[in-house]
Amino acid sequence: MNQGEGLGGADVCIVGAGVMGASIAYQLAARGVGRIVICDQGSVGEGMTGRSSALIRMHYTFREEVELAVLSFRMFRAWTQLVGGQPVFHPAPFVRIVHADEADKLRQNVAMQRECGAQVELIDRPTLAALAPTWAVEDVEVAAYEPESGYGSPGQVASDLLTRARELGVVYLAGTKVLGLRRSGDQVTGVDTAEGPIEASLVICATGVWTRPLLRAAGWDPPIETEFHHVSFVRRSKAEPVDPMACIDSVSRTYFRPDVPGTTLVGSFYGPRGVDPDNFPQHPTEAEAVALVQAASRRVPGLADGGIVGAVTGVYDMTPDTRPLIGPVPTLPGCLLVAGFSGMGFKISPAVGLAVAELVADGAASSVDLGAFGVERFAEGRPIQPDGEYRDDLNTAR
Ligand SMILES: Cc1cc2nc3c(=O)[nH]c(=O)nc-3n(C[C@H](O)[C@H](O)[C@H](O)COP(=O)(O)OP(=O)(O)OC[C@H]3O[C@@H](n4cnc5c(N)ncnc54)[C@H](O)[C@@H]3O)c2cc1C
Repeated sequence: MNQGEGLGGADVCIVGAGVMGASIAYQLAARGVGRIVICDQGSVGEGMTGRSSALIRMHYTFREEVELAVLSFRMFRAWTQLVGGQPVFHPAPFVRIVHADEADKLRQNVAMQRECGAQVELIDRPTLAALAPTWAVEDVEVAAYEPESGYGSPGQVASDLLTRARELGVVYLAGTKVLGLRRSGDQVTGVDTAEGPIEASLVICATGVWTRPLLRAAGWDPPIETEFHHVSFVRRSKAEPVDPMACIDSVSRTYFRPDVPGTTLVGSFYGPRGVDPDNFPQHPTEAEAVALVQAASRRVPGLADGGIVGAVTGVYDMTPDTRPLIGPVPTLPGCLLVAGFSGMGFKISPAVGLAVAELVADGAASSVDLGAFGVERFAEGRPIQPDGEYRDDLNTAR
């Protein structure tokens, strides 16, 4: 084990205590991987994790993402036994609606998801109309339906994982901003913080939307762009019950789910790029919020009669193929990147932590193959492009 001055040494230093960093810390500690330090410029879950809509569903077009989602779904549902704390999973049956000309891709993807163990079925229009009587579904030929899916409590997930990790010996340094990576030649040997250096044999950057400046300063520019998003909460008219269902809808380009009783959360597919993660609007404009709810009311007409009672904004860490970058950084030996989740990291975070811990401890991830998520895939001309990809997959809020 390394021992340095300043904040001391570690075998593994994890930068970022969002849901990813906390999940990795817990899984590494559970494997007894030496001394682990996790630091955050703020505190646990305060980054984009705390702003997440936190949908938990298994509909992806890329097999490895489905595998991560299925494994995570099982872990979320068994949370109290696996991690402890209160349940973090809230049921809300999930529906995926795509453009009519992509119905065959949907069928193909559902078949693949079922092979991966996802609880998903194809439903026709009359079945959907019966399940969600307040939705307008005349244009839907077929939809994917996940009766057991739902949404989570993201702040609690991150904090439960970190609590458990600390019980297993992980050192947590809140309010500790990493200013740069320490190097000895090419080799990364730790991090510099305002409180002093942390020497480490391995540095894991789970730094979300803050990743690019940190790694660019170390000489490698990761293909991650920031993208602004906003979510509105609509208090529904008392005259209409809220269907307890969640949905991602290519046609209205929105997603929505139940929130506190009588309220629906509505989120956007697209947003402006290049926002500063340290200085972005904390509220959408009224016009932005109204336009979003109007778009969703194409699918759920009753939303138009509701009142917008709250909003959340946030930033996605987008990669060119909207899939994460997970793996060693070849030009920065001793540095492993786990970022670029492109607006969909929460639901796969338990399995990502597990697979990354396997990669670190055993040299390869055995739960789910992480090979396709390699960080140099764009430079090597290997973006992820599954056969069943939807038109809006390349920028879908999920
Ligand atoms: C509005 C919104 C809605 C979303 N909805 C969903 C959804 O429905 N389903 C889903 O699966 N996903 C969703 N996501 C995406 C999901 O929330 C993220 O992918 C996930 O939370 C990312 O976790 P993370 O740990 O990588 O990042 P973060 O939670 O942002 O954590 C990164 C941490 O790193 C710290 N950090 C960064 N740089 C440094 C540094 N230099 N030194 C020290 N600390 C540092 C930060 O302070 C932060 O705490 C949504 C995201 C947003 C913004």
